[in-house]
Amino acid sequence: MQIPGHIDPVTTGTVPLRGGNRIDLVGLTRDAIGGVLVEAGLDAKAAKLRAKQIWHWIYHRGVTDFEAMTDIAKAMRPWLTDRFIIGRPTVREAQVSSDGTRKWLLAAADGQEYEMVFIPDADRGTLCVSSQVGCTLNCRFCHTGTMRLVRNLGAGEIVGQVMLARDELGEWPKGTMAGFGPDPEDDDEEGGHYTADGRILTNIVMMGMGEPLYNFEEVKGALKIVMDGDGLALSRRRITLSTSGVVPMMARAGEEIGVNLAVSLHAVSKEIRDEIVPLNRKYGIDELLKACAAYPGAGNSRRITFEYVMLKDKNDSDDDARELVRLIKHYGLHAKVNLIPFNPWPGAMYECSTPERVRAFSNLIFKAGISAPVRTPRGRDIMAACGQLKSAATKPTRAELDRIAEEKQAALG
Ligand code: SAH
Ligand code: SF4
Repeated sequence: MQIPGHIDPVTTGTVPLRGGNRIDLVGLTRDAIGGVLVEAGLDAKAAKLRAKQIWHWIYHRGVTDFEAMTDIAKAMRPWLTDRFIIGRPTVREAQVSSDGTRKWLLAAADGQEYEMVFIPDADRGTLCVSSQVGCTLNCRFCHTGTMRLVRNLGAGEIVGQVMLARDELGEWPKGTMAGFGPDPEDDDEEGGHYTADGRILTNIVMMGMGEPLYNFEEVKGALKIVMDGDGLALSRRRITLSTSGVVPMMARAGEEIGVNLAVSLHAVSKEIRDEIVPLNRKYGIDELLKACAAYPGAGNSRRITFEYVMLKDKNDSDDDARELVRLIKHYGLHAKVNLIPFNPWPGAMYECSTPERVRAFSNLIFKAGISAPVRTPRGRDIMAACGQLKSAATKPTRAELDRIAEEKQAALG
């Protein structure tokens, strides 16, 4: 049977063990690359120079082969190849939605799987990046929440998603690198000049699988690399980190990473938020909104986004909308609200609010002077929309889902 909008998944190969005993350089800071070069035998000065060159090739040009590094002496390239690799996640499956959204099921070197999604729009291209395999939390409307946490992704695996997306979108710059002259010993320097190119991937959202603030150090390390001006060079204004409300880490996220913050609020009363975002039992609405008010750099030019999933007869009444406005004003927040129509998944206990209800809810907030656009669902036909990601193909029973939810609740304390 032909399912409208469905495109058969493309299955690609099995996972080779990446690198063997060689060190993967992706995800290391520039200093750390220098460090491993010293450990491998270079003197400090040479290591520093080589680290700078290698960094540029890895993050500026997307090169995965040391042989392509034309400003590094030819004799040195096999030495690098023997000791290091420039890895990428393995693509297990790639799908394209009828609306152009693309989803990749990726595998790490240990075989663990996670997903990333690319959402093309007229004026931007957004990559939705995962921070964990699974999630320790269990927001009741979220498919990822039905998985146990398998493990955190490392900085290399997080930045690796951005690198792979640029590979797949074919948007690494061509030509020679500005400021890096050809190696005099080298006879195969390519011609042309480096150009910045019109970018396809313009924005990053940490809204894939997992809770990024429960994997703070690795997410920070990855985003620092993504923002580094000598590499991927994405502005922090084009990066958004979404949290379900890990209050103790929010100030550090603002100070140490400095990207835009999105907060998964989803409900305005303790009773309902406790139910649908169980982390609320640990960090309540008052504490959460105070942390938003104190978010470093929050202000008119850098508004916090409140994500609000529209669940039929659960959190979508006019009174809920009025209370949301009251809370935003009460805490003096410069905020906008992003209304997300609930995206269904097999076994979900909720339904999406009607379009009329979503519109009425949005209008009430707009009338109070707060922006409240409705997020158009993207990639629903390939289960790539918000909250639909889940790497394990298993379909747990209701009883199993309840058991996982109980376990996670107990772990929250
Ligand atoms: N763990 C982070 C990032 C999650 S994904 C967080 O919770 O903020 C980004 C958004 O999608 C979050 O606001 C999340 O609550 C929301 N979401 C989860 N499941 C959803 C679903 N089924 N339909 C719509 N939005 C959902
Ligand atoms: Fe985890 Fe976010 Fe899903 Fe909640 S919404 S279960 S925090 S991924």
